[in-house]
Amino acid sequence: MSTELLAAAHAPSAYDFALQNFELAAEALELTECTRSLIKYPERVLTVNIPFRLDNGDIRRYEGYRVQHNTSRGPAKGGIRYHPGVTLDEVKALAMWMTWKCAVVDVPFGGGKGGVIVDPKQLTLPELERMTRRYTAGIAPLLGPQRDIPAPDVYTNAQTMGWIMDTYSMMSAGGYPIPSVVTGKPLSIGGSLGRAEATGRGAFHTLVSACEQLHISMKGSKSVVQGFGNAGSVVANLLDGHQSLVIAVNDSRGGVYNPAGLDIPKLMLHKERTGTVVGFAHAEAITNADLLTLECDILIPAALENAITGENAHRVRARIVAEAANGPLTPEADAILEGNGVFIIPDILCNAGGVTVSYFEWCQNEQHYYWDLHEVENRLERVMNKAFKEVLDIHSDRKVGMRLAANMLGISRVATATTARGLYP
Ligand code: NAD
Repeated sequence: MSTELLAAAHAPSAYDFALQNFELAAEALELTECTRSLIKYPERVLTVNIPFRLDNGDIRRYEGYRVQHNTSRGPAKGGIRYHPGVTLDEVKALAMWMTWKCAVVDVPFGGGKGGVIVDPKQLTLPELERMTRRYTAGIAPLLGPQRDIPAPDVYTNAQTMGWIMDTYSMMSAGGYPIPSVVTGKPLSIGGSLGRAEATGRGAFHTLVSACEQLHISMKGSKSVVQGFGNAGSVVANLLDGHQSLVIAVNDSRGGVYNPAGLDIPKLMLHKERTGTVVGFAHAEAITNADLLTLECDILIPAALENAITGENAHRVRARIVAEAANGPLTPEADAILEGNGVFIIPDILCNAGGVTVSYFEWCQNEQHYYWDLHEVENRLERVMNKAFKEVLDIHSDRKVGMRLAANMLGISRVATATTARGLYP
């Protein structure tokens, strides 16, 4: 085995980091070993084989997962990720973070996550649909509006959720629709207004609160966004609309930089047309590594885990790091940034707008009564502001970093619910 492969094999995973952060919060909360053992580990882990037919008639197979971390506060909730780098450990970490996140914003859900090891860009749309339907059939025994409710994540979208909803409805109800089994669906089959923008919009609300707290004027501030997808493009657009200069953004293929500020609406059109931000006019090219170390007020990692590590954290020159992505900082990076006085808005707070509006969507489906956009956005803002204040209060009262404060809030709520339910049998 090469040294590089050996290092990768021994590198700590996102799940190791999630467990490490859990223990820090459990210590600070003085949780007993018994409570820890009840809430630390996933309740259920399912691995499925996904054979499906390619357009040319050949059969391809992938491996997929669904993990339910904790359901003491409500049904498992969490996205489904399609990515060649998916691992079971990653899905377990993401499921655990969903548990704490739902508790931080106090929505009555537990945590779950799903993933398939696939590069969806290599499949045609019909192939992607067949693969999605077969994966859904595999994890269907776990799903249900009162059991486990998936949503979109990296490289899945409203269309993917439509296929999942249809497959589940065909399998369990003869095709009669069961919209509340997934969120992030198309509006025409029970999706919620405002869901597609919810993660970015929620992150934006936390940024407004953080700027107020730190006396930073958003108008005229400089921001940088890593990952111009669902979460990243929305928060970039809102910052641009509030006169923050978004000086650089990127995606998996590369980045664009303009010190005078990028025209975000035009960049969104460019990405829609070409599939990437690369090649946008009125901007210079910037590498994905250099983008993260640009001098700015606000840095928003909105792509994947471990974007900022012990290697590059020393070079980050931002005042606020807002984690629109899940797990973009390793614990080592966390400590370095905190030591340098960077204000971190942790993922389980920063990107909780997505699951909050997913909850609103589920409520609307269960009530068969739909809200207007104004109502969705107002309720989202209230939830995000309340959660930010609650985390900030712990941060100030207990003199701990924002990540530990958020973990303490989420984990204590889950511990309380678990204790209230008692131990079966
Ligand atoms: P997405 O697929 O819409 O976008 C991801 C973007 O990241 C794409 O533009 C991709 O090209 C880019 N990217 C991938 N690797 C990159 C790299 N190395 N450098 C720069 N860019 C890179 O996914 P999304 O839904 O926006 O999810 C992004 C992050 O936000 C994930 O961590 C996800 O778990 C988290 N999140 C998403 C939601 C949601 O509602 N979609 C909710 C909560 C958290």
